[in-house]
This record gives sequence, structure tokens and C-alpha cells, in this order.
Amino acid sequence: MTPSTNALLSIVVPLYNEEENVELLTARIHESLEGYQYQIIYVDDFSKDNTRKVVKDMQDQKVHLVALKKNYGQSLALAAGLDYAEGEYIITMDGDLQNDPSDIPQMLEFALSGEFDVVTGIRQKRKDSLVKKIPSKIANFLVRRVTKLDIKDNGCALKVFTRDIAKDLNLYGEMHRFITLLAFLEGAQIKQVPVKHHARHAGVSKYGLERVFKVVADMMLLLFIRKYFQRPIHLFGILGVLLILLGIMINFYLLIVKLGLGEDIGNRPLLIFGMMFILGGIQLFTIGIVMELLIRTYYESQSKRPYRIKNITIGGKAA
Ligand code: UDP
Ligand code: MG
Repeated sequence: MTPSTNALLSIVVPLYNEEENVELLTARIHESLEGYQYQIIYVDDFSKDNTRKVVKDMQDQKVHLVALKKNYGQSLALAAGLDYAEGEYIITMDGDLQNDPSDIPQMLEFALSGEFDVVTGIRQKRKDSLVKKIPSKIANFLVRRVTKLDIKDNGCALKVFTRDIAKDLNLYGEMHRFITLLAFLEGAQIKQVPVKHHARHAGVSKYGLERVFKVVADMMLLLFIRKYFQRPIHLFGILGVLLILLGIMINFYLLIVKLGLGEDIGNRPLLIFGMMFILGGIQLFTIGIVMELLIRTYYESQSKRPYRIKNITIGGKAA
């Protein structure tokens, strides 16, 4: 196949204890991208095995190694690779051959068309255990329900990005699982393409069941970010005011009971609720104000704008 672009591609792969996979992976990438201009960026996430050495021995013009100083986890390893990547298009994939590099050319076509900023895989006949598949199905379902993004498969690591979007992902914690959603929230056009999926070639998965809890927490954070990142006071302020009002009403009622009816109110649970609502409401409200200040600092300290422009035209022509 003749390549359809001269643009440089960066393939970013995070590696943690993948010594038995990385040579074969490299061979597969070379095979699949014959004729393309590309660099493979292996990010060694402080592997305990020989991964670093295996990559070092393969290094040439095309194979680059970014070796991290400690084990930061998949998201930050990816972030390091994305920061380093020089290509116009950036491709991410796992280092255990679960993704198939032969899918890259067809995915790239969509990115090259200029219509899409992110092309992400939908793993066909996913070769993972049910323990992995079921939580991931639930997460996909929830994301589909609460966002307008009709995403079939959040967890597929094989993705093609335009440079701009890849460089602006801001991956923290374990957000690698929600990259497509993150990009979508930044205004990226997303294309989903069916891709092959294999069982891990060698070695063991780095994640266990505890990932379910992390996914839930991360998802809640993302949903908050999606809706309220730029206007936290609308969430915390409104909730806070409602709670304060509720507390005042309760206490006012108790005041009437005390003064009007002359009953004792010191032993009534309602009194505690009334006080708690008022205090909790004040707290929520002030959290909202603090977050508003934080978000201003976030944008202004980096001279970022809270909006993104697709392009500007003057008299029908690009400016
Ligand atoms: N990985 C990493 N740092 C870590 C854990 C994982 O760089 O702390 C890499 C790992 O080497 C692999 C990818 O992230 O290339 C996905 O990991 P894994 O295959 O274990 O995840 P799973 O496919 O089981 O979800
Ligand atoms: Mg894997």
C-alpha cells in the first residue's frame, strides 16, 4: 500500500514491564507503516524488568525512548510521550499487542480528511475477561447517557489525534480511560472505527478490580467538569442557597414553636437539621466562590481563553 501522506506520525506507547512484547510490537508497527514518515516513542514507565534495555537496543532514527524516573502510571506516561511527540498526527496504543498496528492506516485516513480531530477504535470481539468487560460496558453506557457523545468504547487505547488536540489533553491521574470524552469536551470532532483486538501477547495486566472504583470517581469528576467547570457557582451557589433557606425555614418554625406555643425545642432533632443545613449551605456557597476564583486563576495564569476557535475567515478567506 502506498502511504497517503508525507506528514510525520508519532506513535506513542507507554510501557510498564513489557519486555517480551516490545520487539514484536516494533516489528508490527514497521510492517504496518511501511512508506510512512513516523517515529515510535516508547515511554518506559520505570519498568522493573528489561523493557528499557530492550528498547535501548532497538533505538534508531525511528525508535525513541523516553525513560521516566519512577512509575507514574499509564496516564502520565502517555502525557510524557505526547509532550515529546513531534508528529503532525499522534497515535497512541498499548504496548502489549492488544491493539493491532495494522489498523492505523485506515484510522489515519479519517484524520487526514481534515474532518476529524480524534479517530478512536471500537474493539471488535474484545479479548478480555468478563471482570473487565462488564464494568467497562457500564461505564460506556453511563457516559453515553449523560453526555451527548455516543461513544461505543471508551477504553480502546488505539487512537489517532491531530497534533493540537493531543498536545492539549492535560492527562492527570488515570484519565487515560476517558481521553475521547476529554477531547470531546474540548470541542474535538470524533470518529469511531472498528478495530481488531487481541489477547495480551505476553506478561500480565497492570490493573485489577480496584479500577472500578477509580473509574466511578473519575467519571463523576468528568461529569462535573463537563457541566460546571466554567461556572461552579451555579452548582455550589444554588445548592448552598437552597440549603440555607431550608435551614432558616426549619429554625423559624422552631422559633414559633418555642415562642408561640412555649414548647421546649432543645431536644428536637429538627433543630440539629436546621443548624446543619444553614452551616452546610454556607460551606457549599463559599466553596463555589473559591472555585470561581480558582478557575479564573487557571485561565489567566496560563493566558488561556475559556473558548476555542475553529478558524477565522475574513471575506470568506482564512485569516
Ligand atoms: N502501563 C504503564 N504504566 C503503568 C501501567 C500500565 O505504562 O503503570 C502501560 C502498559 O505497559 C500497557 C498499557 O499501559 O502498555 C495498558 O496496560 P495493561 O495492558 O496492563 O492494561 P489492560 O489492557 O489490562 O487494561
Ligand atoms: Mg492490555
